[in-house]
Amino acid sequence: MDKSRLVLPERIVKDMVKLAKTELPNECCGVLSGTNLQVTTFWPLVNEAQSPLYYKVSLNEYLKVKDEISRKGEQLIATFHSHPKTRAIPSYTDRFNHPDQTILMLILSLKVTPPELKGYYIEDVHSYVPYPIVINSQ
Ligand SMILES: [Zn+2]
Repeated sequence: MDKSRLVLPERIVKDMVKLAKTELPNECCGVLSGTNLQVTTFWPLVNEAQSPLYYKVSLNEYLKVKDEISRKGEQLIATFHSHPKTRAIPSYTDRFNHPDQTILMLILSLKVTPPELKGYYIEDVHSYVPYPIVINSQ
């Protein structure tokens, strides 16, 4: 993964905030796809854990969405989930369950106002670095 930055349309950020608020008190989750680190599509997923502390996606649903993303000619760029009551920092569980290094992790925290959105490159379960996000208003 090159040390570039993730470009995110403002409309998708709004959709993510909306989903995070709708799913309260639980965490919400989803994935983002596009090309060359430019996000174009947001795919909300079901948090099967229905928990305020973590999320769980069924493998079936994940694979189905991955398939739809390839059919659109896009790449899976990042996972997304919300933190209802904590800051936007990856938990041990988040890092442990992260699918792979080529996918970024976005976390939206509702602990602060306005909600805080952070991106991370997850190297392994013990190592992660902030990844810059640029929001554009197209
Ligand atoms: Zn988390």
